[in-house]
Parts: sequence; structure tokens; C-alpha cells
Amino acid sequence: MSTFEMISKHGDHEQVIFCHDKNVGLKAIIAIHNTVLGPALGGTRMFNYKNEDEALIDVLRLSKGMTYKASAAGLNLGGGKAVILGDSKTQKTEGLFRAFGQFVNSLNGKYITAEDVGTSVNDMEHIYMETPWVTGIPKDFGGSGDPSPYTAHGVLMGIKAAAHEKLGTDSLKGMRIAVQGLGNVGSNLVKYLVEEGAKVIIADIDQVRVKAHHDKYGVEVVAPDQILFTECDIQAPCAMGAIVNDQTIGKFRCKVIAGGANNQLAEARHGDQLRELGILYAPDYVVNAGGLMNVFVELEGYSPDRAFEKTKRVYDNVKKVFEISKRDNIGTHTAADRLAEERIKTIGYLKQHHPGKSNRSFTTLKEVNNR
Ligand code: NAD
Repeated sequence: MSTFEMISKHGDHEQVIFCHDKNVGLKAIIAIHNTVLGPALGGTRMFNYKNEDEALIDVLRLSKGMTYKASAAGLNLGGGKAVILGDSKTQKTEGLFRAFGQFVNSLNGKYITAEDVGTSVNDMEHIYMETPWVTGIPKDFGGSGDPSPYTAHGVLMGIKAAAHEKLGTDSLKGMRIAVQGLGNVGSNLVKYLVEEGAKVIIADIDQVRVKAHHDKYGVEVVAPDQILFTECDIQAPCAMGAIVNDQTIGKFRCKVIAGGANNQLAEARHGDQLRELGILYAPDYVVNAGGLMNVFVELEGYSPDRAFEKTKRVYDNVKKVFEISKRDNIGTHTAADRLAEERIKTIGYLKQHHPGKSNRSFTTLKEVNNR
């Protein structure tokens, strides 16, 4: 398949940029999927891809996902992503990231980068030396640092919205909530859930993390291969993707699935199957958008309080998905895509046709400081 055929197949992207600098060993691809709502924001992944086609498909798929995530989150951001081809453990250098930063800079803010798998705050610092179009920079540079507490707080809001929809209350007091994965997101979520008075059940393949959480909160522990099938009100997957698949779908004993992990459905049809089973699925990319909201606030001039406030919007966003699901009689996973697409269509129309049209995306640091 030709490169252009691949781009058409994976989302009809606006622009795909191949970045090459042999002096520093840089091979990278930036994919800008859609900028109708605003500049394309998405992290830079560094990964040892088997070949260039695999890297291209990954960046096309991930950048399209960012368009949907930003739109459903109600942010004035488009979708983009970048991949650097290479081993993140052995091939990172300052020169590599600064060269990449120069490519980002050449796009004049049409693409804004951030951390992702295989890249760190330090790498963002090197990119920042070449371009202002980077988020997730260190706190001492005015950045927002680790997004996980904000992601987790958004997940809490998503869980509350789903509980309200399915169980008639958004108080989580006394509810049994299973959390798979006690990493950056899961550990923050457990803290919030315990504060809410929920009966939390935990599992992780890392037994040190399990013990630390058990000792700190006195929460129930189950084996990692049992957590998904434990009897509970809400499953909150916060580890890896594709946890709803042909093998697991018949074994869930919960009323709601709402968690932070990306790509929870192995395939879209599993979303329909959950619906048939009467399990309410709160779509992952709507629920876990708190981290994206956090870096969006960084573009405006970072304030932890404003970022925290923003993550509360996940509640309404998840509710909107449920409304569309009922309105159109479709699964919530499809409803989330529809929410994102409808917003892009409406705002795109306004930007083109409205007499008072503006291309404003976000307020600037100066405006924020003048408030
Ligand atoms: P992490 O690597 O810090 O934590 C993942 C945890 O899951 C680890 O403790 C790991 O041991 C555990 N785990 C892995 N396989 C498991 C299994 N089979 N059973 C039980 N536990 C298992 O990752 P994270 O940053 O907390 O992210 C968790 C998920 O949320 C990922 O899918 C990620 O893509 C998604 N996400 C994270 C953020 C963020 O801000 N960090 C934002 C959006 C989405």
C-alpha cells in the first residue's frame, strides 16, 4: 500500500510530516489529523518500531484518536501525534530531541507536542529549548508536570456520571469499585475513591504496589487474573487496553465499566455486546481526558487549581455521551464518536460561515494574567 493510500485508509489526515536528520539519528513522523477546533495536540511516542509502515500506521491511528478525544472533551484543540523511531532506553540524546523540536517549531503552532510512551519531562525540556509548542514541560519552566492526578480526577468524575446514570446516584459511598492497575492513574484513583467512601477492591501484577495500597487504605485485594470478574458495582480498568474481549465479555459481574485505561474495547462490537448485557460502558477516551485538559491549561498559562476545576467537566461530557446513546439508540462507544464528530461539524461550520467568525483557540498567558 502506498503512503497516501495508508493515510486515506487511517483517517484522511490534513498533513503528515516526515522528519529526518541523519547527524543526530532522527527519524520521526508527525501526523496532523484535524485542526478544525484548534491546533493539533498530542504526545510524542518513542518506540522501536519493526519497520516504517508500522510507525506510520501507529501515528495515523493515534493522531485521529486525539481529534476525537479533544473534541469530546470540549477543548479547542485538534488531533495530532508524533512518533520517533528508535529505542527510548538507548538512543535518546539532547541533539535528537532538539532536532525534533526544530521540526515542531517549523509548523508554527499547528502541532503542539507533549509526553507519551517512551518520552519524559526531560525530553520535553530539550524540545522546549527549540520551540514554545510543547506542553508537559517541567514545573520549574512553568509547565504542568505529571498529568496523572488530573487524569485520575477526571476518571472519578466519569465514574460518578456513570453511577448516576446506571445506579441512580453519584454518591460512591458504599459502592464496590474494582480498580485494575495501581500505576500513576490507578493509585491516584484509589485515593479519591477511598475519600468518597467507596469499598475499593484492587489488583496489580506488581505485588509491592498492592501491599503499599493495602497497608495505606486497608482495601480488599484480589488476584490480578480475577479483578475483572470480581462482583462489584463498577469496574475501573486502569492498566492496559483490550480488557473487554471475546474471552472476558461473558464473565464481568459489574453494572458499569468506567476507568482510565486507553482502548478498553478490543473491537467496537464488544461495546455493542456490553450494551446487550446491560453493562453501562463509559467510553475510555471521554473518561480519561483529564490529563489532556491539564496540558490544555498549560497553553493558557498553568494553574493547578484551574486544571483541577476543568477535570470536573468529564462528568458532563460522559453524561452527554449517555444522552446521545439514548437519543440515537446506539452503544455508548459509538455515541462518544458521534459527540466528537457533531462538535467538529458545528464548530467547523461556525468558523467558516458565521459573520463574526474568529479563529480563537485558547486564551493566552497574557490574557490570563490580566484577569
Ligand atoms: P502505569 O504504567 O503507571 O500503571 C499501569 C499499572 O498497571 C502498573 O502498576 C502495572 O503493574 C499494572 N498492570 C499491568 N498489567 C496488569 C494486569 N494484567 N493486571 C493488573 N495490573 C496490571 O500507567 P498509567 O500512567 O497509570 O496509565 C494507566 C492506563 O491509563 C494506561 O492504559 C494509559 O494509557 C491510560 N492513560 C493514562 C494517562 C495518564 O495521565 N497517565 C492519561 C490517559 C490515559
